[in-house]
Amino acid sequence: MARPGTKSEGDPASSGSMNGHDLSSLTSKDLDETIALLEGGGFCWLRHSPILEARFEDSLSVHRSKRFLIEGIICVLLFNLFLIPDYFLFPQHFLHFFVVRIGFATPPALVALILLRRGVSAAVRESCVVVIGVTFALTILYLYFDISPVVSSYAVTDLSILLLFANVGIRARFPYAIVVSVLCVLFGAIYLVLDPMLKQPEKVESFAILFAAALLSVVGNYSIERGDRLNFLRRLESEVSFGELANANDELLLLARQDKLTGLANRGHFDETYRTIWYESIENGSILSVIMIDIDNFKALNDRYGHLYGDSVLQRVATLLKQALRGEEDFVARYGGEEFIVLLPNTSEEAGLIVAQRIRLLIEVAGSPAVPAVASHEHGWGTVSCGLATVHPRKGLSRNGLIAQADVALYQAKADGRNRVCVAETVKAER
Ligand code: GH3
Ligand code: MG
Ligand code: MG
Repeated sequence: MARPGTKSEGDPASSGSMNGHDLSSLTSKDLDETIALLEGGGFCWLRHSPILEARFEDSLSVHRSKRFLIEGIICVLLFNLFLIPDYFLFPQHFLHFFVVRIGFATPPALVALILLRRGVSAAVRESCVVVIGVTFALTILYLYFDISPVVSSYAVTDLSILLLFANVGIRARFPYAIVVSVLCVLFGAIYLVLDPMLKQPEKVESFAILFAAALLSVVGNYSIERGDRLNFLRRLESEVSFGELANANDELLLLARQDKLTGLANRGHFDETYRTIWYESIENGSILSVIMIDIDNFKALNDRYGHLYGDSVLQRVATLLKQALRGEEDFVARYGGEEFIVLLPNTSEEAGLIVAQRIRLLIEVAGSPAVPAVASHEHGWGTVSCGLATVHPRKGLSRNGLIAQADVALYQAKADGRNRVCVAETVKAER
C-alpha cells in the first residue's frame, strides 16, 4: 500500500477527476455493487462502468507506462542477449541471426518503447506489449526453423517464456493478454506443423507445453488484473465513504448552526461570529455597529391569529432581513424568540442607522404574510423596533456591553411607541 503522499499504480488518489469524469455522482452503493461482482466466484469481464474505467485508467496510466518501458527495455535486451548462445550454437549463421534480431525484430520494439516513453492512450500502450511479443515470437520461430530437432523444441519453449513474461510479468490487460497468447499459440502450431525436424510425439509434447503456458499465464493474468481492480475499487470506496461522511458532517454542522424555523444563523452561531468579528475589528481598528430587532406586539399577534401564523411572520421577517442587508460582511441571526440581531462590521453609526431604517421600513411594508382578516398596520402588527449601537472595539472593552447598549436602545424604541429605530447614546459616549 502506498504511503500517504506517494502514488502507486491503481491508486485512486493519484489523480483527480480527469477526462471530465467527475466522481461526485458515485456513491458507496454503486461501488459496493461493482466490488460484489468482482468478489463473486464466477467469471466476469474485467471492465467497469465508463466513469470507473476512466478513473481506473487515470490512476494507473503514468505508472503503468513507466513500468512497461522499463520491462520492455529488459525484454529487448534479453532478446538480443540470446545472440550469445546463437553464436555458440550456429557460428556459421551468426551474421544472419544478428541481422534478423538487431535489424528486423528490434526496431518495431524500439518504436513501441519510444511511444511508451512519450505517453500514449491505454489502447496503444497495451498494444505495444502485443507488438513486441508477437514480433519476438515470429522472429524466434523464423530463426529456429528447420535447423535441428533440439533448436525446434527450444523455439517453442522460448515462446512459452515469452508468453509468461507478457501475461504475468508485464501483465498486459486481459484482452491484450488473450490476443498475444492466441497469436503465439497459433504461430507455434503452424511452426510445429511445418517443422521437418521434430517427430510427431515431440510436436504434440511441444504444443502441449506451449498451450499450457498460454492457458496458465492467461489465467494468472486474469486473476492479477481482477485483484488490481478490486484493490482500486476498495480504496476508491473508502475515499467515497470518507467524502460522504465529510459531507454528512458538514450538513450536521450547518444544521447545528442554523435556526430551524427561519433558516438564519442561530444564537450559538451568532456568539461565535460575534466573537470573531469583535477581535477582527480590534485588530483592524475598525468600527462595529449592532442592530437589535424585535417584532412589535408579537404576543398579541400570536394570540389573535395563532402560533402558526406567528411562525410565518417570523419567517417573513427573516427573509426581509436578509434582503435588507447588502454589505458582504453583514451578518444576521435569530437572537431569541421574536428577536433578531444584525452585525455590521466596518459600519459607522450613520451608515448603521440607514440600514436599520431600511430594515424597519421593509418590514413595515411587507412584514405580514397575507392572511384574510389581517390588517397589519391597523393593529400595529408586522412592524419591528430597532436598537442601534456602534463602537470602536478595543482591548478592555466588553463586547457584551455593545449588545446591552443595543438592547437599551431597543427598549427606548419600544417605549417611544414602536416601529422605530433608536440609537444608543451611552455607547456613543464611550468613543
Ligand atoms: P413588544 O412589542 O413589546 O416586543 O411585545 P411582544 O408581544 O412582541 O413581546 P413579548 O415579549 O411580550 O412577546 C413575545 C412573544 O413572541 C411571546 C412568544 O410566544 C412569541 N414567540 C417567541 N418565539 C416564537 C416562535 O418561534 N413562534 C411564535 N409563533 N411565537 C413566538
Ligand atoms: Mg421580545
Ligand atoms: Mg416583541
